[in-house]
Amino acid sequence: MNNTTKLIHSVPVDPLTGSISVPIYQTSTFVQDAPGENKGYDYARSNNPTRAAFESIVAELEGGAGASAFASGLAAIDAVVKLLETGDEILAVDDIYGGAFRLFTHIYAKFGITVNYVDTTDAGNVLDAINPKTKLVWLETPTNPTLKISDIEAIGKIAKQNGALLCVDNTFASPALQQPIKLGADIVVHSATKYLGGHSDLIAGIVVCKTQELADKIKFIQNASGAILSPQDSWLAIRGVETLYLRVQEHSKNALTIARFLESHPAIDKVYYPGLKAHLNHDIATQQQSAFGGIISFTLKNDTEAAAKTVVCSTSLFKLAESLGGVKSLLCHPATMTHKNIPAEKRRSSGVADSLIRLSVGLEHPDDLIADIDQALLKSAVTNRKLAEIA
Ligand SMILES: *Cc1c(COP(=O)(O)O)cnc(C)c1O
Repeated sequence: MNNTTKLIHSVPVDPLTGSISVPIYQTSTFVQDAPGENKGYDYARSNNPTRAAFESIVAELEGGAGASAFASGLAAIDAVVKLLETGDEILAVDDIYGGAFRLFTHIYAKFGITVNYVDTTDAGNVLDAINPKTKLVWLETPTNPTLKISDIEAIGKIAKQNGALLCVDNTFASPALQQPIKLGADIVVHSATKYLGGHSDLIAGIVVCKTQELADKIKFIQNASGAILSPQDSWLAIRGVETLYLRVQEHSKNALTIARFLESHPAIDKVYYPGLKAHLNHDIATQQQSAFGGIISFTLKNDTEAAAKTVVCSTSLFKLAESLGGVKSLLCHPATMTHKNIPAEKRRSSGVADSLIRLSVGLEHPDDLIADIDQALLKSAVTNRKLAEIA
């Protein structure tokens, strides 16, 4: 059966009423027939039918044995780190999501869990850095905001040979484009706030595990720590994820068209998009992804904060905001927004140049999006010429 059909029909019909939409079970507890005798649900932190439906839909999408949904992507990441013990080490991609960096280094370091950040675009670096203390290898591919690609299969083998788990944050690709468990990952996490939800209307996260044993451990942590996804948000996440394939394919098509336009634009220096032949590890992206997603980053020839700010303040369809993965196009200036707390030199050396702009390409028509970016680039060029004349 085609994946799209499978996804749409993995959303269960309510067995009690025939409701074709999953009911929102807005309840805290479930009445029991006798002590300990219930219909599979006892208390809504432990389990809730609306949340369980979302969890099983995403588990199937990722090809995992089970999933647990959380109140945010970061709560999902937090649950995975709680599998570790004092003295364990995480080996993580150096271009990691800022929130994961903050959690690892500012929360878990004080519990004696260490993190080693390496450039995972070369699997050899993972082989060099892994050691007996490494219990978790943490990948994002593509990364934020420079879309670095790492070889999941090769790194999965290295993790396995060294007795470590491989967890992939699959937020950027989504299971519609990339299924890390099939490539050797043990765990997949998502900020469901992004493509899974897909409409910029909720904060949610999910952990999917390859084996039932791991899924049970995460379920235990979900109940023990309690950062669960609410029934209302679980329903909204189901409503969003039903159209995942359609949306992500369109996001990818639009983004490839725009990336090619940017690549040939005279005001642009570098374009970061895994679908471009010039992108580092484009061949690996082609092997492990079915398309290249909706996120593009680029730098300007005039590599200044002022030029970038003119661009991001001059678009009308691309809205200036953090986050990504919704139907409306967004753009942001990482140097002064998502990455503003990183010292300038460290930020620049990791590829986040002063003029770097990140696009989350939405579902508008690509011609309109290109016209919007083009006039903003022109305005920036004119403004900077004027500034130069005055100076
Ligand atoms: C947004 C994001 C997160 C964090 O998710 P929240 O839902 O905001 O908590 C984690 N990883 C990646 C790659 C993200 O883009």
